[in-house]
Amino acid sequence: MKHESGWKKKSKTEIADLFEFSEGYKKFLDEAKTEREAVRAIQDILSVSGFSQDWVADKAYSINRGKEIIVFVKGTQSLADGFNIIVAHVDAPRLDLKQNPLYEDVGLGLLKTHYYGGIKKYQWVATPLALHGVLVKPDGREINLVIGENEDEPVFSIDDLLPHLSRKTQDEKKLSEAIDGEKLTLLFGSIPLNGEDKDAVKKYILNILHEKYGIEEEDFVSAEIEVVPAFKARDVGIDKSMIGAYGQDDRVSAYTLLKAISEVLEPKRSCLAIFVDKEEIGSEGNTSMRSHFFRVFIDEMCEKLKLNCSEALIRKMLFQSRALSADVNGAMNPTFQDVHEKQNACYLGRGLCITKFTGHGGKVGANDAHAEYVAEIRRIFNNKGILWQTGELGKIDEGGGGTVAKFLAEYGMDIIDCGTPILSMHSPFEISSKLDVYETYRAFKAFLRS
Ligand code: MN
Ligand code: MN
Repeated sequence: MKHESGWKKKSKTEIADLFEFSEGYKKFLDEAKTEREAVRAIQDILSVSGFSQDWVADKAYSINRGKEIIVFVKGTQSLADGFNIIVAHVDAPRLDLKQNPLYEDVGLGLLKTHYYGGIKKYQWVATPLALHGVLVKPDGREINLVIGENEDEPVFSIDDLLPHLSRKTQDEKKLSEAIDGEKLTLLFGSIPLNGEDKDAVKKYILNILHEKYGIEEEDFVSAEIEVVPAFKARDVGIDKSMIGAYGQDDRVSAYTLLKAISEVLEPKRSCLAIFVDKEEIGSEGNTSMRSHFFRVFIDEMCEKLKLNCSEALIRKMLFQSRALSADVNGAMNPTFQDVHEKQNACYLGRGLCITKFTGHGGKVGANDAHAEYVAEIRRIFNNKGILWQTGELGKIDEGGGGTVAKFLAEYGMDIIDCGTPILSMHSPFEISSKLDVYETYRAFKAFLRS
């Protein structure tokens, strides 16, 4: 096994191509900071690529509650042969506003949050944050909110303690306990309403919310407002070889999959691209990979294409399918190399990473792909000259993690994890290599066409 930088294997033209590809990716990251925004951005790109929700053509898609989207491209072979499926997730770790978030203390207006997914809480303080989300009125009216992305809009921030006074309260504690979840409160305002003694700042804020956005305090109860980093995707490194941005886990898979599926014309096997929600909290809920929406979509496909699909045929279609569980992997960290097993780790700039199994404590909770299937994937990627590597998520018993692979494996299909290596995963500023992002796209396209 040779391990060398993928950059050495790329021509000048290829490097220009992958730099160009990353421009579209960065734009997508800026437009898709929540699962709802990701679904809307995916829908926009699909629409211009000739996909529709009415199944008139051989390519169609369906959306589940604005948070999950499944895309179909009809192949030339019989559907009984099964699909080529790639699944990616569009949710990312973040802070959600609580349902009764607003309060006033020491003359400041504050918003309470409840974190979503596996964050390191200390990374979310003292950094500019934006609000993205929706409030739904009892009559069904929706107020869509994005505040903090444009230069003329305010941003928000969570206050950290000054180092001069943090010795006992933070510095002597474990890192995981230095910032308490209940202390992740957003600084939201500070001007008191004239003529009010009690909660004057809160009242002033409520006035602004009402006048500018039509929001009442009770509207937060039926709202999903997500707190995300306010900065945009940027090139990283003096050679601009990397991308730094929020939410690359797993919108890097989502974007590369979106580009791949929208460019696949008349494939041999019918293709499905699944963009799911709620992966970061264990795929629970009706917009996750465990939701029956996937089966409902298959039923809809049979009905719209006027196929006579029995239960038995659908079971066979899924059993005969093969799939990629697209998700990022933790790249070799230059300053914390000890958590990786170097011979079985993935590295930035060496192409996408194939991960045979995930899980923790002796592969518990893993989908472990069969050797025969891994060989098939190697063949597909090698035939197209895709740069790939193999890697586990860290050393044995160092921690671990899972993906949605096991939920699709339940249907009996072959599935394997693969995706882009990432540094600073789950942080507000995740890092990827432009080369790896491009190879992920090329690999997905090769798989869908195979
Ligand atoms: Mn992920
Ligand atoms: Mn994740």
